[in-house]
Amino acid sequence: MAQQEEVFKKLIAHCKEYGFVFPSSEIYDGLGAVYDYGQNGVELKNNIKRYWWDSMVLLNENVVGIDAAIFMHPTTWKASGHVDAFNDPLIDNKDSKKRYRADVLIEELLAKYDDKIEKEVEKAAKRFGESFDATLFRQTNPRVQEHQAKRDEIHTRFVKALNDNDLAELKQIIVDYEIVCPVSGTKNWTDVRQFNLMFSTEMGSTADGALKIYLRPETAQGIFVNYLNVQKTGRMKIPFGIAQIGKAFRNEIVARQFIFRMREFEQMEMQFFVRPGSELEWFKQWKVTRLKWHKALGLGDHKYRFHDHDKLAHYANAATDIEFEMPFGFKEVEGIHSRTDFDLSSHEKFSGKSIKYFDPELNESYTPFVIETSIGVDRMFLSIMAAAYTEEILEGGETRVVLKIPASLAPIKLAILPLVKKDGLPEKAREIMENLKFDFKCQYDEKDSIGKRYRRQDAIGTPYCVTVDHETLENNTVTLRDRDTMLQERVSIEQLSAILSEKVSMKPLFKKITE
Ligand code: ATP
Repeated sequence: MAQQEEVFKKLIAHCKEYGFVFPSSEIYDGLGAVYDYGQNGVELKNNIKRYWWDSMVLLNENVVGIDAAIFMHPTTWKASGHVDAFNDPLIDNKDSKKRYRADVLIEELLAKYDDKIEKEVEKAAKRFGESFDATLFRQTNPRVQEHQAKRDEIHTRFVKALNDNDLAELKQIIVDYEIVCPVSGTKNWTDVRQFNLMFSTEMGSTADGALKIYLRPETAQGIFVNYLNVQKTGRMKIPFGIAQIGKAFRNEIVARQFIFRMREFEQMEMQFFVRPGSELEWFKQWKVTRLKWHKALGLGDHKYRFHDHDKLAHYANAATDIEFEMPFGFKEVEGIHSRTDFDLSSHEKFSGKSIKYFDPELNESYTPFVIETSIGVDRMFLSIMAAAYTEEILEGGETRVVLKIPASLAPIKLAILPLVKKDGLPEKAREIMENLKFDFKCQYDEKDSIGKRYRRQDAIGTPYCVTVDHETLENNTVTLRDRDTMLQERVSIEQLSAILSEKVSMKPLFKKITE
């Protein structure tokens, strides 16, 4: 774990040093859990958004997009339940004065028991070799059984406390299992309190007439309140989906782990409207599709897992998370929720407007049920960076840091490098760039040795480098260097565009999703 933490620190430093992510308003020492994306970060982020957007609206005839405003009528948040129930249970340690989410402290304790069990299994697997039966071992080994029993006991109490909204019991679990503050190391805790996560502000000029409005904590409500507009104007037939990408804001209690938990972040959400009764079938289907979307990137299939929710939100009848193995463990990147007809019915009630769908096949009207897929752009960004960050020792003992970002998402697709800064090579390199720049994000670099320039491109994840040398002037060929293998091949300038189109296209990823 310590080693993983070390890697995570290096990744954060790398993100800053190479123009991916900066702390917000850094010259004023930053602002808690708010970050800015730099020149390379914004390119990667835009590519992630395009990958998601196209996978929704290009691949599915029955999914269309919208872009709703961040400010919404305040009643929206009454209807959605956020004013009354968008809370986290918080607890303070009186010695360190640090604030924590009580549920997260308990989840971390459960994860410790899982780790202990896995360690026992791994140890035994090594000891017994090929004849080892892990299932039998888990069922019979006394130490594993002991850990499992303890874990089950805590888990049962935890789930009940969450479902009963029993804050005193959450505190009691923390006391009974002697959870200590990671900073002070003490058990000196306050009571657990509820904390609403929405930011509010005022709209209007006079204090009297000003309207209290919220910064949206999720983009989904912008879709629900536009359901009728889109259904009618787009002549959409159920089942159909509405996709949206946009900023969301949450006053998170604990803001750690870099861009994993931010107070201003971006979501990519799709609400899929279906016939009542068919929602669990669609839930299953979207789980499969969304996992394929992740896996198509090739970051490693073993880095993903589903985690079904212990406590269902007030609106859901099924919910799961897609978790990714971050440097700090498996964590939620995307949520898939079967939200029933809760939101549309509630908006119908609060607005007094009918939000029904007339189903011509059934010849009846109903309020559609909804499957939601909701993914954070920033968490996706972090998972890609975490998987891509690689330190390699090369022949001769030199090390290189390389970001193995999937080529189709890489911020810069191609670096164009004249071998030397003379003999007409820069001019030739510029000429090549002039032709390619309409289709690919290219970067020209003539400073320093060619080796140093390759390292700089490796560090920002550029999948291909073209080097223009003296031979180029003779026969119009260049070397094309592959970031991951570092192999170079000689290709003609004319071929470059076609080669690159194939290598950096998102099409193969889309094909994998639809297979
Ligand atoms: P968590 O349990 O980690 O707080 P959540 O279950 O509240 O997350 P959802 O409400 O399901 O998250 O939001 C959908 C997605 O939005 C999440 O899967 C995540 O990728 C992203 N997201 C939510 N909160 C944040 C945040 N504070 N910073 C960055 N991304 C976030």
